[in-house]
Amino acid sequence: MEENDKKLVVVTGGSRGIGKETVLSLVDEGYRVAFLYSGSEESAGKTLSMAREKSPSSKCYKCDVSDSANVKATVEEIYKEYSTSVYALVNNAGITRDGLLMRMSDEDWRRVIDVNLTGTFNMTREISRILLRNKGGRIINISSVSGIIGNAGQANYASSKAGIIGLTKTAAREFATKGITVNAIAPGFIETEMTENLDKGEVEKLIPLKRMGKASDIAKAVLFLLSADYITGSVLKVDGGIAL
Ligand code: NDP
Repeated sequence: MEENDKKLVVVTGGSRGIGKETVLSLVDEGYRVAFLYSGSEESAGKTLSMAREKSPSSKCYKCDVSDSANVKATVEEIYKEYSTSVYALVNNAGITRDGLLMRMSDEDWRRVIDVNLTGTFNMTREISRILLRNKGGRIINISSVSGIIGNAGQANYASSKAGIIGLTKTAAREFATKGITVNAIAPGFIETEMTENLDKGEVEKLIPLKRMGKASDIAKAVLFLLSADYITGSVLKVDGGIAL
């Protein structure tokens, strides 16, 4: 397919981990990609050059998703560059700042909510205007099984991820008549930098499928939801059965 005819998917947190794998799977499947990252220039540069092997018009943007002005300006740039090609948004950027609830600082509570939940809202608000103009599209939000079943030590994170589910369902209802579907993916334990300090052997004992997930397990779910026409407002668990 001609590069300019490819649909564009905006991926937040595309520099590393699940986002990186998603970016690379998307360009393999014939999409082009604009991905956001917040600080890791080197990882972003590497991911971009890998993505450009398949899709030379792909780009990356440094943008803190928790900062609404930064998001607005970045999305304006993306629209100027890709206009009617903008087709989908994957809200993947996320952080953890774990600690027991009784000892959790205001700063750790706020930062996780700001990046994970407010960041998803900021991006959805700006990109949805473009999708409405373009008469349809897809929004896929990366939640977590922590947002469904909770997780000790993650009051901030689990609340942000549960909030994303509420946001997903509300946006699905608001955009249902506009050709835009909105779904969430709830990953279980996935091997990335976010989980590198966990004891893999102990974690795997808890998982019915007896292995941690790979970033590619989530990327496959993103591709599936991009191709699905009659699914909206759903939460797809990709967790090896941990939240059965
Ligand atoms: P990583 O820590 O490997 O990567 C996080 C990504 O988010 C990076 O690209 C990072 O950019 C970006 N990011 C962080 N803060 C911001 C910000 N303020 N603005 C823009 N981008 C930002 O995480 P994972 O790949 O493991 O996780 C991806 C998503 O999946 C997250 O939402 C996470 O909560 C969710 N998830 C992960 C699970 C797991 O087990 N790994 C389980 C369940 C859900 P930069 O490189 O610039 O820092």
